Amino acid sequence: MLGLGLIGGSIMRAAKAAGREVFGYNRSVEGAHAAVADGFDASTDLTDTLTRAADSDALIVLAVPMPALPGLLAHVRDVAPNCPLTDVTSVKTAVLREIDAAGLLHRFVGGHPMAGTADSGWAAGYAGLFTRAPWVVSVDDHVDPEVWTLVMTLALDCGALVVPAKSDEHDAAAAAISHLPHLLAEALAVAAGEVPLAFALAAGSFRDGTRVAGTAPDLVRAMCEGNCTQLLPAVDRVIELLSRARDSLASHNSLAELVDAGHAARTRYDSFPRSDIFTVVIGAENWREELAAAGRAGGVIRSALPSLDSRR
Ligand code: NAD
Repeated sequence: MLGLGLIGGSIMRAAKAAGREVFGYNRSVEGAHAAVADGFDASTDLTDTLTRAADSDALIVLAVPMPALPGLLAHVRDVAPNCPLTDVTSVKTAVLREIDAAGLLHRFVGGHPMAGTADSGWAAGYAGLFTRAPWVVSVDDHVDPEVWTLVMTLALDCGALVVPAKSDEHDAAAAAISHLPHLLAEALAVAAGEVPLAFALAAGSFRDGTRVAGTAPDLVRAMCEGNCTQLLPAVDRVIELLSRARDSLASHNSLAELVDAGHAARTRYDSFPRSDIFTVVIGAENWREELAAAGRAGGVIRSALPSLDSRR
């Protein structure tokens, strides 16, 4: 585990609780010491950690913010270039580019656990963070079946539901359901903060609508700016919806169009079907396309799929 913050620290706890051997690196001494004090195998020596990973052919999990990736990947390439590799970053296409630039694509399968809190650091993590949460595992054209199986198994061991997706489709969806909510929360907090008395009266709607504005600004910027290509059209769409609602409010005193459409969409989400994916065999012909299509249709993997090798 490279990076023992909220996500890396939670994976470390969940993986150990599932009976896996797990060891990690953290840049800050405080974080590493806190992990050791809690009984975990953690170090501030990156070369030593990567050498151990190379010697044991460990699955390396990159659990650092996007801007820290290039530096870390240079070390991985130098010390453990053949280890299976995954990440937890909330953007997938930009990470793929960095991995490719570092020459590490052959053993990489991207991941994104869709769980989190507004807190950060080792102390914020807990083993149950991923319980029943979707964990995207990328099925891009290059992915290796053996590494895919390793990443799927890690996510399942952490209690997550695996959602297979192509990186670009993940990024378009993440822009809509994660990055856009971050921007809307920031805007809502700013707008309310300019109104005298607003904070004194604020209750549930304000708290829920601005919760993610409590996230560390550098993390929000890293994930939103890292997904610029997909976020821009999502922002344009919200501006269009709001400006039509504004015009309608001004001219007819009516918000019917936006409110009715929003309520209908939210109701569809509440009854969105989740089916189990169990027929795909990892490594069989067209397995990546079949998994991407199943993920798109709402399918999740709840228990490990067979792979071609394991069926021989
Ligand atoms: P965090 O701040 O809790 O932890 C970040 C970790 O990265 C720390 O261990 C820190 O020491 C390390 N780090 C930072 N810069 C570094 C550098 N230059 N070199 C080496 N290590 C460095 O953050 P987090 O929430 O665990 O986020 C980590 C990753 O998880 C990010 O890529 C984020 O996109 C992703 N993610 C976050 C959430 C969330 O809700 N917070 C959810 C899903 C995925």
